[in-house]
Parts: sequence; C-alpha cells; structure tokens
Amino acid sequence: MTIDSLELGPIRPPSEASSLLLRVTRNCSWNRCKFCHIYKGKRFELRPVADIKQEILAVKAIQERLNEAAAKAGGVEAAAVSILNNPLSETHFNVALWLYHGGTSAFLQDANTLIMPTPDLVEVIKFLKKTLPTITRITSYGRSKTAAKKKLEELKALHEAGLDRLHIGLESGYDPILAYMDKGVTAADHIVGGKKIVESGISLSEYVLLGLGGKKMWREHATETARVLNEINADFIRVRTLTIKEGMPLYDEVKSGQFIRATDEEIVAEEKLLIENLNCRSNFVSDHITNLLQEIEGKLPEDKEKMLAVIDRFQSLSDEERQNFRLGRRIGIYASLDDLGDPGKHGLVEQAVAKVAKDGKVDEEILYSLMERFI
Ligand code: SF4
Repeated sequence: MTIDSLELGPIRPPSEASSLLLRVTRNCSWNRCKFCHIYKGKRFELRPVADIKQEILAVKAIQERLNEAAAKAGGVEAAAVSILNNPLSETHFNVALWLYHGGTSAFLQDANTLIMPTPDLVEVIKFLKKTLPTITRITSYGRSKTAAKKKLEELKALHEAGLDRLHIGLESGYDPILAYMDKGVTAADHIVGGKKIVESGISLSEYVLLGLGGKKMWREHATETARVLNEINADFIRVRTLTIKEGMPLYDEVKSGQFIRATDEEIVAEEKLLIENLNCRSNFVSDHITNLLQEIEGKLPEDKEKMLAVIDRFQSLSDEERQNFRLGRRIGIYASLDDLGDPGKHGLVEQAVAKVAKDGKVDEEILYSLMERFI
C-alpha cells in the first residue's frame, strides 16, 4: 500500500474540520433516508482492521517526515503550511491540516462506524492512540438504531478505549416524519440509543434537521423532537436546515408535489417552537451555513431567552427587511442579523433583490436553489 492510497470518506461534521480523517467503514449501512444524497448508489463495506492499521502507520510515516522537515523549516506549523500550500495528495493535505492544528483529534468515517463489531472498533481505536499518541480525542458518526442494539458494556468499552464523542443524526423525534423519510429508526430507538450513549460516558451530539416536517408536520416535528431531546439530554444539539438537491429521493417528491417544503419564515417559527419546548441541559449549536439564523446558540436552559430573542428580532423586521436578510444569507453576504446594519452589505443585497425580485418579491424557488450550493 502506498501512502497515496489512503482512503477518505466524503464528509465529516464541521466541528471536526481540524481532525485527522480515518475511514474505517465505507459509505452508509442504511442509505435509505430520502433527504440524503451523500452515499446513494454506493455499497456499504466494513474495512478490514489490518487495512486500517496500515493506514494509521502510513499517517505516522507522513508525520515523521513532516517532523524532519519541521526541524529545517522552523517548526511543525511552518512545515505543515508548506504541505498545505502544495499538497501531494488529499491525504497529505488531511494529515498536514491535522498536524497544523496540533494533531490532537481524529474523526472515524463514514456514516455509521458504530456498526463495526465492537472488539474490532476497540482494536482500531487503541492502535490509533498507541501509534499516534498526540491524539487525545476520537469521534465518529453513528446511528441511533445501532447504538440502541449495542450493549451498554460495549459502548463503555469503546469509551474506555478512547472514543470520546458520537455524532448522531436524530433529524426528527416525530415518528410519522421518520417513517415518511425512511430514516429506519423510531423516536423510541432514538431515545434508547441516545440515553445509552450518554450513560456510557461518550459525549453525544444529536443533529436535528429543521424543515423536515415540511408545511404539513412542522408543529409536530418541533414538539416531538423537543420531547425526544429532553429525554436524551445530549451534550450537544446541532441544527441544520433541510436542503434538497437532485440525487435525493425527496427531490422527486418535491417535484411531484408530494412533499411541500416549508419556507424560511415557517422554519424559523418551527425552531422557535422547538426551543420553547426544550428543557434539557444541552448546548444548542447552529454550526451550519444552511441555517438562516446561525447566531442562535447557547447553553440550555440558561440561554433560552437569549436564543428566542434572536428569533423575535427576525420576526419583528418589516417584510422587506426579512426578505433582504433571507437573500443576503443565501448569497453569503450576511452572517448574522447585525449585518443588516452594515450599509455596504445592505446595499449589495438591495441590488441583488432588485435583480431577482418580481413585483418586489423574491421567489421561494430562487432561495431554495441558492441553498443547494451549501451541501
Ligand atoms: S443514515 Fe445518515 S448517511 Fe445514511 S442515508 Fe441516512 S442520513 Fe444519509
């Protein structure tokens, strides 16, 4: 195996941007969710432990060479920057970025690492920590259903081996939505799996997909998702906003009129209802560009009013200003509501509105299509 043959999966959470990426399984073991295009058409595979170990050794070899270069270049950061500026491959880029950020964390890909037999995953994690001892934090994706099926002792063994955090796609806590979207999991599975992870000591991030109930089920989506999150009491609740593009089964259902999307304004109302109903002690994070109001963040319950105040602020704007903000967010000019007060940015968005609006109104389809670029 050559170093350039190291595999990289397609995604990782934004919070793992500086982690070493290691692909321990390929693709998704479920692969049926209607709102997801990432692994469609690709077969799930467990990777042999021996292959994964080879790759960890290859990372170590790159690290050693970089350390040698660092002695001449004036430090690891400088050597890493020189690789980042001219990477031999995606692998070199991944390793250099990881080292540039201190070489302390690793993310195990792909969509459901938990499905690996526990002894194999424990072996991989232990080997990773032993071979690359600067790594002090290891995280991964997993499915609630798989976590629910694992024994608590298995999750504890993974935690003891060094698995620090699991990122789980909860999406919704409302069973009719989960069934419609073919998520392959029920609210009860989410609760059992989530609570087991929390009890094992592994930190848990639960991902919620705003807008998943469409126009029809947004209220139930908000209240039932809050109910499930309250039961789980995860360390993090991370929200994303439904974005639909070709390649997702949901795309065809939107085209045929079976699924009617909620607008940004309706999704903001949904998020308000969700937050109002949360009474857990989780960190609420909006770390994704698809979210209209990315500044809604805080620790529950103490920051709840602060978070709801952001929504009130948006909802109190005039129709014209809300439209201006929505387009400004979707074309990447605004980061937060405060940016509305920046005359330069506001002027640019006004020009954009004038270009695309008909009778002063920007079509929802334009806003939806702008969002597709984000995923
Ligand atoms: S389980 Fe996750 S990765 Fe797999 S299809 Fe569903 S959303 Fe996509």
